[in-house]
Amino acid sequence: MSDKQRALVVLSGGQDSTTCLYWALDHFGKDSVETITFDYGQRHIIELKSAQKIASIANVANTVIPINSFAAMGGNALTDTDIKVDNSLETDTQLPNTFVPGRNLIFLTFAAAFAYNKNIHNLVTGVAQTDYSGYPDCRQKTMEALEKTLKLGLECKITIHTPLMFKSKKETVIMAKKLGGLSALAHSHTCYNNQYPPCGSCPACQLRAKGFKDAGITDPLLQKNHG
Ligand code: ZN
Repeated sequence: MSDKQRALVVLSGGQDSTTCLYWALDHFGKDSVETITFDYGQRHIIELKSAQKIASIANVANTVIPINSFAAMGGNALTDTDIKVDNSLETDTQLPNTFVPGRNLIFLTFAAAFAYNKNIHNLVTGVAQTDYSGYPDCRQKTMEALEKTLKLGLECKITIHTPLMFKSKKETVIMAKKLGGLSALAHSHTCYNNQYPPCGSCPACQLRAKGFKDAGITDPLLQKNHG
């Protein structure tokens, strides 16, 4: 491989990481991007299927890496089958029960190790500081510190790209459309309750719906002819 810049996108199968994939295709070129998806014991296998489908629509490689330790640590609604997702939007004083402690730190560290072996120096992640949840591992300061740590710990050049960091959901939707990502977004998965059509009432559905409404764009997921 030449010294051409290549990128690894952390693709969860959700709206933000799908948008990031299209950002990376635009930024690095379609032959320079691949994706990694983590099977972390999330309750909904549909997320993994979404990621694979989206990677195939975008015509990029996708590698699924199993990390099944989160559920064993317990205590959050995305990996535990007996905890119900809190349907109320969160206050800013408390983290939602969908917070999986350390998730993004762990994902990006694994992604960096994977990238290292492939001589890839760019990681792309859909974390956003503007996200309603206020997850502390989504913040700019965390990403800057992690990038520094990875550079030191791997002793190589590595950049964490966060194209959505300061974007609202409305701006993210507009960006996805501009980058040609709407057809892939039709296959992205958002609903915490794993329903199709989406339940419309969980925090993730509400946030997604508001973003599309504010952008004046119809969500292609809702138009998709299911099955
Ligand atoms: Zn929902």
